[in-house]
Amino acid sequence: MVNSQSSNLQSSRETVNGDAAFDGTREGEAYIQCRDLFKIFKPADLEVVALRGVDLDVAAGELMAIVGASGSGKSTLLNILAGLESPSAGQVYVGGRDLLDITDRDLVQYRRSEVGFVWQATARNLVPYLTVQENIELPQAIAGVNRRERRVRAQELLQAMHMEDKARRLPNQLSGGEQQRAAIGVGLANRPPLLLADEPTGELDTQMAIEVFQMLGQMNRVFGVTVVIVTHYPGVAQYVDRVVHIRDGRISSESYLQSTFQRSGVSSEHEFLVVDRAGRLQLPQECIAELQLSGLALAEVEEDRVIITKAPLLPRDSVDHPRPETASPARRPEFSRPAD
Ligand code: ADP
Ligand code: MG
Repeated sequence: MVNSQSSNLQSSRETVNGDAAFDGTREGEAYIQCRDLFKIFKPADLEVVALRGVDLDVAAGELMAIVGASGSGKSTLLNILAGLESPSAGQVYVGGRDLLDITDRDLVQYRRSEVGFVWQATARNLVPYLTVQENIELPQAIAGVNRRERRVRAQELLQAMHMEDKARRLPNQLSGGEQQRAAIGVGLANRPPLLLADEPTGELDTQMAIEVFQMLGQMNRVFGVTVVIVTHYPGVAQYVDRVVHIRDGRISSESYLQSTFQRSGVSSEHEFLVVDRAGRLQLPQECIAELQLSGLALAEVEEDRVIITKAPLLPRDSVDHPRPETASPARRPEFSRPAD
């Protein structure tokens, strides 16, 4: 069930075209490592603690999402990873770089070549009077890439995004979804190993949001780029390897969802299982209700996963009685209600 980081690391090094193969981490080390990360804003006399001890590892080549209520610190975390905000305390390493101890010069270099960014506001991602192709060439021109190479890279991205036919369009000649897909191309123009997206579908309808998530997944597979998405979109779990929940500036839990269940032949749009910071399993509310109606949940721990199944139906009045704790063998995981 829990996706192993080593397999992610491996996959990142077996990309279709070998992009993003470099990362400064040692074998087995996460690409992004946040330890007890704090960010304190001090507007006037006030202190706002936006992040209060974030612990997060992201493997190279992973495709993951961070979800959480408004004001929980998602953008702050993403901006720190992008090198746009400086952390206040703790540790944060990206690709072996220590973002708490980095010179201004290295930071500029880091922002330019190590991270791509996609913002929520479509207008913030694309220059309105440049075509899609020119928009993808622009960051390369700034980085000093010659004209021919810029074209080749733009074509490569447009092809991977199935947007060759949109190359000569201006942003206002595209749908919102197409604009965000083009923005992903711009974010990847200089082959960064890391792509960050802050609410990339916040202004889109469901169909367009799905297309954008699928595109992020496609880019992750084709170019091996590590992708971190901050989102409110409830169905995001279907499109990523892992969802991390942030609450009041801390990581509260992690979910391992849809894709795992599809592989085991069970398909649903719902979140089944959450692992909190203490490593406890937490069942979503609907699951608990359903399981209580039908009897007990049985859990078995196998080598790399936990299987939860319904026990045979019990008489109604016993619903509150034998509790999950009494049902499973000694190896069983601990159950509890979700944090929210
Ligand atoms: P989210 O993206 O999850 O909505 P943010 O990371 O934007 O949350 O904000 C987290 C907290 O930090 C909020 O309380 C917000 O008001 C505060 N905050 C964010 N940026 C600043 C800033 N530049 N100055 C002061 N407070 C800020
Ligand atoms: Mg935000």
